[in-house]
Amino acid sequence: MKGEELRLADLVAFARERGGCCLSTELRGEGVKHRWRCGRDHEFEASPRLLMRGGYWCPQCFPSVEDPSGWNYEAQVAIDPLLRRFYRSAE
Ligand SMILES: [Zn+2]
Repeated sequence: MKGEELRLADLVAFARERGGCCLSTELRGEGVKHRWRCGRDHEFEASPRLLMRGGYWCPQCFPSVEDPSGWNYEAQVAIDPLLRRFYRSAE
């Protein structure tokens, strides 16, 4: 399929979907770490591939499997439009 190549605009749109923003001003590659900010002002680095294909987002808002503490679903839904969509469809 053509047109699968990632553009910076895709990163920006994706970050907005999660209620945050993309702080990197140029696309350096799908597997390369970029800088992001979530809807609660945490800054973190991750590759677009990890976030967009892996479904990951801010590591502080979404603690890892090793550290499941602090996972506040209600608070996340309030700022994360993408999550809210799933939340609604689960009702
Ligand atoms: Zn966060």
